[in-house]
Amino acid sequence: MAYILLPLGYAFGALEPHLDALTMEIHHDKHHAAYVNNLNKTLGTQPALAAQPVEELIANLDAVPEAIRAAVRNNGGGHANHSLFWRTLTPGGAKVPTGGLAADIQSTFGDFDALKTAVEQAGAARFGSGWAWLMVGRDGKLAVTSTANQDSPLMDGGTPLFGVDVWEHAYYLKYQNRRPDYLKAIWQVLNWDVIGQNYAAVK
Ligand code: MN
Repeated sequence: MAYILLPLGYAFGALEPHLDALTMEIHHDKHHAAYVNNLNKTLGTQPALAAQPVEELIANLDAVPEAIRAAVRNNGGGHANHSLFWRTLTPGGAKVPTGGLAADIQSTFGDFDALKTAVEQAGAARFGSGWAWLMVGRDGKLAVTSTANQDSPLMDGGTPLFGVDVWEHAYYLKYQNRRPDYLKAIWQVLNWDVIGQNYAAVK
């Protein structure tokens, strides 16, 4: 049993001009591939652990032997985080939240613009590398948060609905040091149909 890098599911250039084709290709075929390969290498002698979906694996890091826990955290997190990222960035789909998710965003954050501001601030304030998230917390409520490195809300009992990768590899070719511009552009390529399905699955 080994973890698999799924194809992106759309062309590398499908999110142009907001996310450029070369960044998408390197990000998927090199960065994400490396997390998958390193995770499989790390779990080579742990078939029972490797049989779990990666989301379950990283939600239960206490079950991982201490000698390989950090490697599973980093590479398992990297695999799970990027798999979610590609799915929620699909071209097409709703450009704004709808249905129950839209209502809960309104009651939690005020309105969609306030959510966008909160995510952009979380991503901009993350020192070094990490992610900004819209998630459902252990309390069942929507929240915006940020994690370092390849950590996931799953590691703290939450469920991510979407995350924005703020590692420099996610934006540097096009945006260089302008991480806030990249964070603003993300809204043009998020698929709120997929994010709404993620929310429905948690509920
Ligand atoms: Mn990345």
